[in-house]
Amino acid sequence: MKANIECNKLRLAIQKSGRLHDDSMKLLKECGIDISNGVNKLKAEATNFPLEVFFLRDDDIPQYVEDGVADIGFVGENVIFEKNKQVAIAEKLGFGKCRLSIAIPKGQDYSSSQFLQGKKIATSYPVIVNNYLQRQGVTAEIHEISGSVEIAPGIGLADAICDLVSSGSTLFMNGLKEVEVIFESQAVLIKQAALNPTQVQLLERLIFRIQAVKKAKNNKYILLNAPNDRLKDIISLLPGMKSPTVLPLATEGWSSVHSVLNENDFWNIIEQLKEAGAEGILVVPIEKMIM
Ligand code: ATP
Ligand code: ZN
Repeated sequence: MKANIECNKLRLAIQKSGRLHDDSMKLLKECGIDISNGVNKLKAEATNFPLEVFFLRDDDIPQYVEDGVADIGFVGENVIFEKNKQVAIAEKLGFGKCRLSIAIPKGQDYSSSQFLQGKKIATSYPVIVNNYLQRQGVTAEIHEISGSVEIAPGIGLADAICDLVSSGSTLFMNGLKEVEVIFESQAVLIKQAALNPTQVQLLERLIFRIQAVKKAKNNKYILLNAPNDRLKDIISLLPGMKSPTVLPLATEGWSSVHSVLNENDFWNIIEQLKEAGAEGILVVPIEKMIM
């Protein structure tokens, strides 16, 4: 752990290439942070925020942050739990969602984790799998391999595997079926323990921006026309940030209503609005949302 008494910027580690790279760069851009030079280099400076970006293998990011070589990092929760480093999760980032699952050959019957008793499991995540087996009271042999885990049962290397899954198509193509989800993951922002006061402040600014981007993604701006005699019912359906904006339309007896809807209950509320007499409903994306 390296305390950075004099450092007046944040050093952020992100994945150099792979599944998290593009979304990490996109998030920085959405936070209004421009990165100057290309990704072929090991590091790059932001032009309009005191931030330096290091491009690394995702597996190395927890170690770099623990050691204070980088101050913060964007990395999958799966990697943090597997590496077991002294870093704190400061914010969930909402991308890189996947699950770590046990899969077995399609033709086999599975009723509980007892299936795994005495079996051989191939995985790149021995720590998380071990932890799971202990919780289940199951003893199995873990065979650690670093890639192409899904072919292990087919070549007789293991009876089961534990690997990251998003759609399940890779498992299917290799004659496997997912039987147990043992860990759910997404990309998170981690931080080292010894940030100086300037860096703490910078991190607060960055997290404030990330939260505004995340909130905007989960919400939509909605505009609709409502007959005035239905306004009360329609307004009662809309949560809004405070309360909806209501403006008179040029047509007598009608109003325009503006509000913000959460993605989760979106279709439900739209249907109810239509039933309540709303017309000309427009839904538009929100770029940033500051509460
Ligand atoms: P690196 O070269 O940086 O070591 P990698 O091959 O280990 O890359 P990627 O496959 O690029 O890693 O995945 C990086 C992270 O993306 C994973 O650790 C996980 O958090 C996340 N992820 C999201 N969906 C998936 C998926 N379907 N399969 C694998 N990882 C996924
Ligand atoms: Zn990796």
